[in-house]
Amino acid sequence: MSIVVDQITKYYGSQKALDKVSFNIQEGEIVGFLGPNGAGKSTMMRILTTYLNPDEGHGTVNGHDLITASKAVRSSIGYLPEQNPLYPEMYVREYLQFSASVYALSDVQHRIDTIIGETGLDSHAHKKISELSKGYKQRVGLANALLHQPKVLILDEPTTGLDPNQLVGIRQLIRKVGQHTTILLSTHIMQEVEAMCDRVIIINKGKIVADDYLADLKSDAVQEIEVEFDYKVEPELLQQINKVREVEDLIKQQGFYYRLKFETTEDMRSAVFDFAHDNELRILALNKRNKNLESMFQELTKD
Ligand code: ADP
Repeated sequence: MSIVVDQITKYYGSQKALDKVSFNIQEGEIVGFLGPNGAGKSTMMRILTTYLNPDEGHGTVNGHDLITASKAVRSSIGYLPEQNPLYPEMYVREYLQFSASVYALSDVQHRIDTIIGETGLDSHAHKKISELSKGYKQRVGLANALLHQPKVLILDEPTTGLDPNQLVGIRQLIRKVGQHTTILLSTHIMQEVEAMCDRVIIINKGKIVADDYLADLKSDAVQEIEVEFDYKVEPELLQQINKVREVEDLIKQQGFYYRLKFETTEDMRSAVFDFAHDNELRILALNKRNKNLESMFQELTKD
């Protein structure tokens, strides 16, 4: 197991930032750690990188205990914090050389050349860090985090502040790195998870509220059916449709629209038609859509 988190709790004074958080991450997974601002993502990442100790609970990274073997944890992970700490006055290659000296690497020059190539920095290696765009600064941060070939990479909000083109580039790079590295990346953007991850762990107010593989999420999708009738129907009546969980009265300019939510993989359209027929309701339009990660996230993290 690459990462084991077992019942971790963390307080800042009297404020509980993490509340009995548990999850495991297997080798080779790319996992999105998703949650609104203040949910506890950075706190969890600081604990996994041993910059903070948990108040309760345990964890390991690459088999090393977070508290009793913190040095071994740190040397086996790559970490890109939210505020990418670069030295603006240094040149890219010089900076990577400086970082490499910390890790007693053998064949440093070869390793630096390789990582410069892998992170797409070839044409920027001779530039000053302060001259680089935000996207290229992130590439330097990633190159730095990957220098010592860690088995686990921890990225805190790696795409914050990037423009759409830079975003695409960094996402591709993270996917590529993920082919041979376990990655845990935090974000508050749902699309980010869909673009890069195999699995999503959702945290809200310090507690895990979902932990699923994206493929499963899509097939388990909660179903919503929007239906238009030719006159007003009491939502209480629609609530009687088999397996309906929620009925929303949608106010539209013209017409009588309702959104019916079902928690089933079975296609409920014919059930809605049958119900309308049995109750002498006339359907003018009916539209089914599967629930996406974005609406699931909103539901799980709303107050
Ligand atoms: P996220 O990364 O998901 O935005 P954080 O882990 O930064 O969330 O924060 C979790 C909670 O802990 C928030 O309520 C935040 O205000 C609080 N918090 C974070 N850092 C500190 C700190 N150094 N001192 C006090 N409270 C903090």
